[in-house]
Amino acid sequence: MKILHASSELTPFARTGGLGDVLEALPAALAARGHEASVVVPCYRGLLGDQRLGARDTGVRLHVPVGTRVLDAEIWEGRAPNGVQVFLVRRDESFDRVGLYGEEGHDYGDNAERFILFSKCVVEIARRISPPIDVIHAHDWQAALVPVLVKERNLPFATVLTIHNLAYQGSFWGVDFGLTNLPGHCFSARGVEFFGNMNLLKGGILFADAFTTVSETYAREVQTPEGGAGLDAVVREHAHKLHGILNGADYDIWNPATDKFIPKAYKPSALAGKKACRAALLEEVGLAPAPTGPVFAMVTRLAEQKGIDLIFPVIDRMLSNDARLIVLGDGDSGYERELMIASRQHPERFVFRKGVDEQLSHLIQAGADVFLMPSHSEPCGLTAMYALKYGALPIARATGGLYQIVQDYDPAHDSGTGFVFHDYNPEALWDAIVRAKRVFADAPAWKAIVQRAMKADFSWARAVVRFEEVYRGLIGGAA
Ligand code: ADP
Repeated sequence: MKILHASSELTPFARTGGLGDVLEALPAALAARGHEASVVVPCYRGLLGDQRLGARDTGVRLHVPVGTRVLDAEIWEGRAPNGVQVFLVRRDESFDRVGLYGEEGHDYGDNAERFILFSKCVVEIARRISPPIDVIHAHDWQAALVPVLVKERNLPFATVLTIHNLAYQGSFWGVDFGLTNLPGHCFSARGVEFFGNMNLLKGGILFADAFTTVSETYAREVQTPEGGAGLDAVVREHAHKLHGILNGADYDIWNPATDKFIPKAYKPSALAGKKACRAALLEEVGLAPAPTGPVFAMVTRLAEQKGIDLIFPVIDRMLSNDARLIVLGDGDSGYERELMIASRQHPERFVFRKGVDEQLSHLIQAGADVFLMPSHSEPCGLTAMYALKYGALPIARATGGLYQIVQDYDPAHDSGTGFVFHDYNPEALWDAIVRAKRVFADAPAWKAIVQRAMKADFSWARAVVRFEEVYRGLIGGAA
């Protein structure tokens, strides 16, 4: 099959979270199964000069009506480090900016225009590819208009929409509907209109031939009022074409046996390297060695969904008994401030690093004993898969993908890979921390869980077969 992915993120070039990681791995996993898969992304600042991408101008020029204006875009082409073909939609006025979606906590005011333009360019690229593609696979609200455009124009592509996070819907005031140049009837309950606004994700759900979420649990949660972020009724109405498919982890990149970002390699049967990484991590962030207590860590977008609020009430207790805490995070400025203040109260035990730092994110996974994911909601939670692989045992709330990824440690049966809690409150988190600390003090028991966690397999091989089934169901078995 021939599949064109459309996404606003692509690791390692442009990423704020797991979306980019999926776009790095899924097309490559499809290619490994004999399919042709490429990706279209906006040409953000720095991409043209990025040697790893080796972008070149295809010479294709698009003149795209966006509302009353016609916007010009260039199509460039490069290759990701894993060989996947990447198309770049270049329009510097729209995409050559500091951030992907905004700056200093504020979304760009023209995001509707930027991603409507992007979606229209995706359709134009799809139309020009020869031999023709079978499926356009759009990701999240930024590309969710693609299925609407395809259906409205009766184009011969099957469309799939993956929702990586239903909380982000691309909801704009109704006037922006004019930017789509779609016929007026599309701004209705049967189209992209949602309570007077234009809601791009809702349009994608209605018009895509199939839509998926990034875990089976999340597929169930988004059909409930609690987990549906206002769209649960829409999701329920279209549940017949909804598939929950847990993402995979890309072990070519996230593997302590081969990771170029960490000072010493290790594997389940030879864990000395993990000790060295732990020491290197503490030194790197300027914390004293912790001979007896565990190193807790978080690598996260600083957003409400990630459960940062649960951390503050337990920090003092967590850091007792020689424990350490390292948080690498970027996002909400309120959380950044609170974390900074908390870290100053425990300068010898707690370091907060603000920003996005790929190398440090790998070192943290390798050096940490415990990885904190107290998420309020977590569609997938790729970092929990990485944490398992690196033997940083997750403390996770049983929500969304985390529910599928982390198994609670059960001493009676000597099973489990982490510490799971259910209620969203600090005391439930604290209970999991107490259990983790207690087991940590028992070195042989801890080592056994670490080894089990590192052997858990969440590779893309399983997920990619499910996507194949979805595509095949749309275009027919013969393909
Ligand atoms: P989400 O998609 O909700 O952000 P995931 O856990 O699925 O959460 O994926 C997050 C991805 O983003 C991981 O690859 C993680 O390492 C990366 N990441 C998140 N925050 C940072 C950061 N501050 N620095 C480096 N990488 C980060």
